[in-house]
Amino acid sequence: MTAQLIDGKEIAQQVRQTVAAEVAARAAQGKARPGLATVLVGDRPDSAAYVAAKQKACQELGMVSYHRPLPADISQEALEAEIRALNADPAVNGILVQLPLPAHLNEERVLALVSIEKDVDGFSPLNIGRLAQKGREPLFVPCTPYGCIYLLEQAGVKIEGANAIVLGRSNIVGMPAALLLIGKNATVTVCHSRTKNLPQVVRQADILIAAIGKAEMVRGNWIKPGAAVIDVGINAIPDSTKKSGHRLVGDVCFEEAREVAGFLTPVPGGVGPMTIAMLMKNTLRAAQIQQG
Ligand code: NDP
Repeated sequence: MTAQLIDGKEIAQQVRQTVAAEVAARAAQGKARPGLATVLVGDRPDSAAYVAAKQKACQELGMVSYHRPLPADISQEALEAEIRALNADPAVNGILVQLPLPAHLNEERVLALVSIEKDVDGFSPLNIGRLAQKGREPLFVPCTPYGCIYLLEQAGVKIEGANAIVLGRSNIVGMPAALLLIGKNATVTVCHSRTKNLPQVVRQADILIAAIGKAEMVRGNWIKPGAAVIDVGINAIPDSTKKSGHRLVGDVCFEEAREVAGFLTPVPGGVGPMTIAMLMKNTLRAAQIQQG
């Protein structure tokens, strides 16, 4: 079997076009353009690059980006004051605090402070709590897991009743992905670093979401024939044929998996582009909730 590749770049582009059209339609009705505030503490190059990509997406989709670069040694009180000011600013519809924060800051307190109506990353304990409760709807779903489910649905994969395995239990990917799958009536197993007999467990999956950050750890013979495999991992491995000296691979061995899986996302070009597309979708939703 050769897996059908799920083209995240193309699907993300469609989401972005739909969002841009809605933003333009709202502007034509005289409504304010959605505003996204990005809070970047310190100067980690990877975080700065992610924030720059989010600002660029705002511009491309007709939204307004408010960037708040803050010094790495900012105090907890000063950072909380920034968040309170953004909560109170009517031009700001969404607030994104780029993670990770420097170690001296209390991430939990900062995320809890973001107004639930502006929590476009979906990391506020209120949104996550609602996601975890039966019959409750979060206002926003975390962007990467939201993108994973969107890709499955676009590919026509049946989630209801499926045996789904999520590799990884992080707050930003694994756990919310598992909660979303439960909400869509899959039977879900969450695996982590202490899981025993991992290949055997993974072989039960009709749907596999891999988010562990271990280059090509999931081998072809771990995968049930015909399974839908969503590879969230982004790992740089040495490659002397590249100018940069490295290339990006996922948590799944792509060449082996494509011979066994029914559906497969590539890395890059799978889940990656969906994260920002879903952030833009969430920011538009925030504006719709706040402005009507
Ligand atoms: P974390 O490091 O926060 O979490 C990793 C999870 O994997 C943990 O739950 C950990 O278990 C588990 N794990 C680690 N090693 C193993 C192992 N050998 N066997 C089984 N489980 C293991 O990572 P993130 O969730 O933040 O990210 C995961 C991957 O997804 C990374 O490659 C990251 O770059 C990528 N990513 C991609 C995004 C995108 O836009 N495409 C967005 C966010 C992340 P335990 O809990 O026991 O420690």
